[in-house]
Amino acid sequence: MPQSLSEIARDRQINYFLLSFTDLFGVQRAKLVPASCIDQMADSQAGFAGFAAWLDMTPADPDILAMPERDRLYQLPWRPEVAWMPSDLCGVDGRLIEQTPRLVLKRVLAQAKEMGFVVKTGVECEYFLLSPEGDGLSDGRDRQSKPCYDQLTLMRRFDVIRDICDGMQTLGWGPYQNDHEDANGQFEMNWTYDEALVTADRHAFFKYMVKSIAEQHGIRATFMPKPFTHLTGNGCHMHLSVWDAAGSTNLFHDDNGELGLSTPAYHFIGGVLHHAEALCAFTNPTVNSYRRINAPVTASGATWSPNTISYSGNNRTHTIRIPDAGRFELRLADGSTNPYLLAAALIAAGLDGLQNKRDPGPRSDTNSYIDPPPPSTAKTLPGNLLDALRNLEANSTLHAALGESFVASYLKLKHQEWADFSHHITPWELETTLDC
Ligand code: ADP
Ligand code: MG
Ligand code: MG
Ligand code: MG
Ligand code: MG
Repeated sequence: MPQSLSEIARDRQINYFLLSFTDLFGVQRAKLVPASCIDQMADSQAGFAGFAAWLDMTPADPDILAMPERDRLYQLPWRPEVAWMPSDLCGVDGRLIEQTPRLVLKRVLAQAKEMGFVVKTGVECEYFLLSPEGDGLSDGRDRQSKPCYDQLTLMRRFDVIRDICDGMQTLGWGPYQNDHEDANGQFEMNWTYDEALVTADRHAFFKYMVKSIAEQHGIRATFMPKPFTHLTGNGCHMHLSVWDAAGSTNLFHDDNGELGLSTPAYHFIGGVLHHAEALCAFTNPTVNSYRRINAPVTASGATWSPNTISYSGNNRTHTIRIPDAGRFELRLADGSTNPYLLAAALIAAGLDGLQNKRDPGPRSDTNSYIDPPPPSTAKTLPGNLLDALRNLEANSTLHAALGESFVASYLKLKHQEWADFSHHITPWELETTLDC
């Protein structure tokens, strides 16, 4: 008999449970349940009104229920009396809610499993530390034009970074390095890769942890793709490898392959490049995402984000980088990506590449910022969210892999977001059009 949640609560001094789910826009929603009621709650599950979250439901729809995953229980390192559990969503009739992002990822992972694969991922979630109001950096002295790896500014934020890194150690994620990144006020913390669903849950929790610990220290953290025009934006690179069904042999690793990658790895990359324009609807899902990619050079001298749909070796100017044998890195995604949909869409594209033995074409080893591969070999990335959404609309492979009804819901809500943005008159328009 597995332990009940109330028994776990007693053993680990947990007083509250956060039954949490991530909606289509990446917002985490939760109910806070006292330990005294958790067994009752976990059995009958916590109820939510679906319309109140970004799930494409109506106010008339019956409640949805969160089914917490007890194997993925994280005690908040900064407040251990509270335990967070990611949940899947079902209706009161027990039917799974297909557009739940975590279920979309499970759906794609089941396809991988059917093909005999376990997919492992790692993410790098860059973020800025800002003033509490978000109107400037938290550290006014962080002003060098090339601030990357700067020791002094990193250590000025030691208290925050240590609390987050200690938290990851307590949770057993294997964090291994922390640094100041390429923009003033920007940081990155790395932990060890794992199976895609484990990494997605950690990715979701990491964003919550960073924002919460920053607030505890009286400042504010943001993962917004491009908060400052002249500075490098927040990337969310994903590293990926495909393993055998036991998860013990890396099928992407081949010592005799080009750059230590096997033929299936190149087919996977071929799939990602083939579907890249539609993938952007998930890797770069906000209006602001398109200020980060295709961007003019930043104060540091490079944006470190891609402009072309191309791949390279250990070269950070392309959409895909092969940093090492046995894995590749997708540099396209940004901090607004939904942790579950990022992995789901990337894996779906790659599996299609494997199935259809897609050829990624020639590798490009140039500095693509000044010497981009020619349009005959590399397509350009979408210029805005609408462009990406239209590409997703036309992509039947992703529809089938991710689920038709999920994609329909996602497109509907994202088109609404684009329309909302389109109704705004921006300062730039006034400046350039007032005297027309
Ligand atoms: P970089 O800044 O060079 O892109 P980082 O060290 O910041 O790299 O991040 C690398 C990420 O890749 C980490 O999360 C790491 O665990 C992950 N990783 C390493 N090997 C693999 C692999 N075989 N499969 C998936 N992810 C991997
Ligand atoms: Mg009520
Ligand atoms: Mg990194
Ligand atoms: Mg980085
Ligand atoms: Mg990287």
